[in-house]
Amino acid sequence: MEEKNLRKKVIKYTVVLALISAVIIGCSAIVVVAVRKAEERSYTAYVDSLVNEYRLRFEERMASAFETLQLMGELMEDGLLSKESIVTDQIQNLSENSSFFKLSYYDIRSEEQLFQLPGSDPEYEFSNRPEEAQEAIRRAWEGEMAVSQVYEQDGVQVITYVIPVYQENEVQGALAGVQELSQFYDIIGGETTSGDRINIFWTESDGTVLTTSAEESAAEYGAAMIEEADFGSDAEQDREKIARKTVRWDGEPYTLYCASVGTNGWNLIYIDNGKDIHSPIYQMIILVTCAFAILFLACITVIIYTYKNTKKDNRQIRSLAEQDQLTGIANLSKFQQEADKLLAQDRNYCIAVINFRHFQYINDIFGMDQADELLVETAKLLETSIHENERCCRGKTDQFYLLLAETKQAAIRSRLQKILDQISGLTAIFHKNYPITLYCGASVEQEGIEGEELRKKLLFHAEFAMKMIKNGHENDIAFYDQKMHEEKQIGLMIESSMQEALDTGEFRLYLQAKKDLRGEKISGAEALVRWIRKDGTMIYPDRFIPVFEKNGFCAQLDLHMVELVCQMQRKWLDMGKEIVPISVNQSKLLFYQEDYIERLCEITDRYGISRKYIVLEILEGLAAENLDDLNHTIFRLKELGFQISMDDFGSGYSSLNILSSLEIDEVKLDREFLLAMGTAREKKQKAMMRNVVQIAKDFKIRTVAEGVETEENEHFLQEINCDYGQGYYYSRPIPAAEFEERFLKEKGA
Ligand code: C2E
Ligand code: CA
Ligand code: CA
Repeated sequence: MEEKNLRKKVIKYTVVLALISAVIIGCSAIVVVAVRKAEERSYTAYVDSLVNEYRLRFEERMASAFETLQLMGELMEDGLLSKESIVTDQIQNLSENSSFFKLSYYDIRSEEQLFQLPGSDPEYEFSNRPEEAQEAIRRAWEGEMAVSQVYEQDGVQVITYVIPVYQENEVQGALAGVQELSQFYDIIGGETTSGDRINIFWTESDGTVLTTSAEESAAEYGAAMIEEADFGSDAEQDREKIARKTVRWDGEPYTLYCASVGTNGWNLIYIDNGKDIHSPIYQMIILVTCAFAILFLACITVIIYTYKNTKKDNRQIRSLAEQDQLTGIANLSKFQQEADKLLAQDRNYCIAVINFRHFQYINDIFGMDQADELLVETAKLLETSIHENERCCRGKTDQFYLLLAETKQAAIRSRLQKILDQISGLTAIFHKNYPITLYCGASVEQEGIEGEELRKKLLFHAEFAMKMIKNGHENDIAFYDQKMHEEKQIGLMIESSMQEALDTGEFRLYLQAKKDLRGEKISGAEALVRWIRKDGTMIYPDRFIPVFEKNGFCAQLDLHMVELVCQMQRKWLDMGKEIVPISVNQSKLLFYQEDYIERLCEITDRYGISRKYIVLEILEGLAAENLDDLNHTIFRLKELGFQISMDDFGSGYSSLNILSSLEIDEVKLDREFLLAMGTAREKKQKAMMRNVVQIAKDFKIRTVAEGVETEENEHFLQEINCDYGQGYYYSRPIPAAEFEERFLKEKGA
């Protein structure tokens, strides 16, 4: 995937996720605010209900006190006439069961304490009563049920309840009961039905605290806050409601809830610090907030995770797409991209492909790890060998590519040669003796094409040129050219048309004369194949024999050549000519065919040719493979009358042992011996030839020297007693008909 697309995707995902999380955050904010508001409302409502509960209890307590008084009042109304009458006892009873600790009756006219409960004392005379009590009594005389302000009596805070006592619908007096303030402590200090316990302050209308359930220190600053809040008669105005005020104390906000009890301007006040009470909705809000927080965090995590992952993937994908994982340099696809860019700006580039020879051996000898290391070192070396506007990369396994800003073959060759030599030099760092060699193909500018097309051609041609020199041994560099390509085309053609060529007689018999070096006689010839195509062009065996040896067609062709030879000799015999033995090259493939000998005999028999006229040229390589089998085959062939010649002796790693271990009739000294004449190797080659000829003589093996090109060659051969010579000096390979004309004598002539 392209990097751009990837980045786009990352941005898209991130934006989508960001939007989602923004929506979630927005929603959660709205929900939290809404819930918060609801919670606030529900909280104040809840606190209101708590404070109200205290008020109701307070009022109930007062109401029940009045009820008791009224009961006594009614009894008194009945007994007023008799004054200290029988009702006294009943009142006494009621009084003992009530919360009043003093009861007295004050006549409206005499203002006297006309009626006094047993045990009361003179202090309870009206005139002796404190101002607060007198005021309440007066209000009762006026027909009101009254409660006095709080006052102190005998060091105890008390209040006096007073009710009017009627006789014939007229107020006769007032019944007063004194009650200690402590009668309210259980209410103020008690719990609500929901189990909450809050500190309640009972205050007078001016804010003076009458009593409170709060501890001393809380009571102190509570009193100060109440004074600051100054509810006055606000609370009284709407008795149903709870008045609220916020006061700051020590920098913190406190909410004061104030409920009027409807008597004497008294209020019940609760100071809320927001910590003591948890409304039921509070848990919910925490849950909701937590849920949103978790959701938000999850979203953020997903975004970050996705982003990081995509970034990592992106990097990985990019490195996979562009980088060679082993060496860290560019891979082929990256190289191609870069080459396209550079070639678009400037056509003056060359592409070269470098490959190691026999990398599988390097793998074996160096071990996998070191072989990998070698590739890494090679990559490093290439990177330091190129200029800024040049590129290199690793292709498959041991193949490297170079894009060089050069077009002159000489310059390219010298740079490449230097690089190849340096790579070969790497063997030293691995402390190995193995000679690392490489082969390299290069291709320069192509006319008439541009851009990607040009790059493709350069690359293809460089690879092509490289493959052409695959089979060498040294550091080789090949430049692509048209001819090279044509040759390859021919190679392909060879394989595709060989069978048809055989069937239609395109393989022709050419003969090269062999001269007896002790006389002037032509003692024989070698059959050499020529492929004459329909259009008249000739292909030499060097081109197709190696191909046929690989694909197995050579065996078929060689027998075909034996047949052509027999056919020709038959013709000559029939013409009355004297025939000579003809050597036919035999591919080693034939020796592995079971019916080889039968087929040979079948051919010679068919044409009625004596087998002594057929010399089979075999290659010494065969001996190396299985000497015993070969000897056995040679033995049988000789028994049947064929002659055996060892071809190309001395070309490879020949061994003189072969001469002693194989029952051959003839040995052909490779033309390389004579081709070395006039070079530095002349002396040694001559010595070798001399010895080979001598040894062959000892074993009664005929000697034939190939590649006789000059008179000197011939003289030398005669000097060392070589039996026969073959070469351009006598004749090039020529068509059989021409050979017949030039060299064959009429019988008896
Ligand atoms: P070879 O068997 O060693 O054949 C001799 C080659 O040396 C021939 O090449 C010939 O043209 C060349 N030659 C002869 N005299 C001279 C000389 O004085 N100087 C130089 N430089 N070269 C000389 P040609 O015909 O191209 O054949 C090449 C090779 O192809 C042969 O080498 C042989 O190995 C193979 N070959 C040719 N015909 C056949 C065939 O019918 N069957 C098989 N299996 N191989 C064949
Ligand atoms: Ca030969
Ligand atoms: Ca030869």
